[in-house]
Amino acid sequence: MDERSKILFEQAKKFIPGGVNSPVRAGKSVGMEPLFINRAEGCYLWDEEGRRYIDYVCSWGPMILGHSHPAVLKAIQEKLPLGTSFGAPTAIEVEMAEAIIQMVPSIEMVRMVNSGTEAAMSAVRLARGYTGRNIILKFEGCYHGHADSLLVEAGSGVATLGIPGSPGIPAEIAGLTISLPYNNIDNLKDAFKRYGNDIAAIIVEPVAANMGVILPDAGFLTGLRNITKENGALLIFDEVITGLRLSPGGAQGYYNIMPDITCLGKIIGGGLPVGAYGGRRDIMQKIAPEGNIYQAGTLSGNPIAMAAGLATLKLLKDSGIYKGLEAGGNRLFTGLKDAAIKAGINIVINHIGSLGSLFFTGEPVIDFRSAKKSDAALFRAFYRKMREKGIYLAPSPFEAMFLSIAHDNDVIDRTIDAAYHCFSDIKK
Ligand SMILES: *Cc1c(COP(=O)(O)O)cnc(C)c1O
Repeated sequence: MDERSKILFEQAKKFIPGGVNSPVRAGKSVGMEPLFINRAEGCYLWDEEGRRYIDYVCSWGPMILGHSHPAVLKAIQEKLPLGTSFGAPTAIEVEMAEAIIQMVPSIEMVRMVNSGTEAAMSAVRLARGYTGRNIILKFEGCYHGHADSLLVEAGSGVATLGIPGSPGIPAEIAGLTISLPYNNIDNLKDAFKRYGNDIAAIIVEPVAANMGVILPDAGFLTGLRNITKENGALLIFDEVITGLRLSPGGAQGYYNIMPDITCLGKIIGGGLPVGAYGGRRDIMQKIAPEGNIYQAGTLSGNPIAMAAGLATLKLLKDSGIYKGLEAGGNRLFTGLKDAAIKAGINIVINHIGSLGSLFFTGEPVIDFRSAKKSDAALFRAFYRKMREKGIYLAPSPFEAMFLSIAHDNDVIDRTIDAAYHCFSDIKK
């Protein structure tokens, strides 16, 4: 089984650090070689040996319409013969900017970049430039890409590999980032009491999805909005995952709380490399060439990427899609919870809309500390069994499960049934 993936992985390790171009893919924490994927359609992936899997990674979030959605492929195919990159303004960039501004309520102007990392890094620079302050406040277990200032107590692969920070980031730079527990307003108030005049911005995942999924407590996001306003700091929502996943207006539309700057990525590229940051007009106008805060990109606003992203956004304007995704999410996550209980497994399942995750613990998971109490060995066993049954989960207890519109009730019910057998097996 997976022979071809094994062979490819051995080769890959000779030429690529760890055999992968992004660390979590290697599957270190589940002790299993990664599958090499050959193609994907709808909710399915096929590996190099032609084995089919139900995909709950969805490329880590972007594929909300399912893989190879006809409208997205068509948009790419139509653009392709016209050329792949011009490094000059194009009409489709204007269309893309307008679409984002229409959908995401707090965004009045937007700049396209090529990844979520770039979006968050640029948003931080903008906040520092705009406020003339240096300190950035983030939350433990939140991941905002791998820029130096943001790789402090981070989630995602950093959490998976148990890395506290990263060599190569000077202490002087890390020292400008304060990391606090998620969902804790008291800690935040203390930090502002001490450093209030030097804090440029709070950056937060409005629903945390890189330490598993953790929902904001009632009042947490409002608290962030109030305290930043009172102290002349900016509020940055990193909606690289939640943007256009929770609602057509992202988490800010869902909770009706408006940040000053928003980071987008993943879904807005329709599976191509795209990121964006946007926000209040008076802030965005500080970016070069209108202002003097510098940020640039050779391939930013790439026409093929814009075509894929725009085709995706057009379909997501229909809020009916979100009703379907939410129904699917409820069916899957309540079904998984019931299956775990029936099998005698202690589990916490945090979920919202089409986003959720399993924690093998009996206690509520509200921050990084409680997330880390989840039983890693049980997760590993569960992951392996599920993969054997043709269900592809993220190979880490700190990553979310994503649904797409292609995950229909039949697929979801088959997943729950498989999970019940896996829960029962690992209980033994
Ligand atoms: C994935 C992610 C990023 C980084 O995006 P990349 O495209 O991988 O650089 C940033 N923030 C959040 C919340 C993410 O989930």
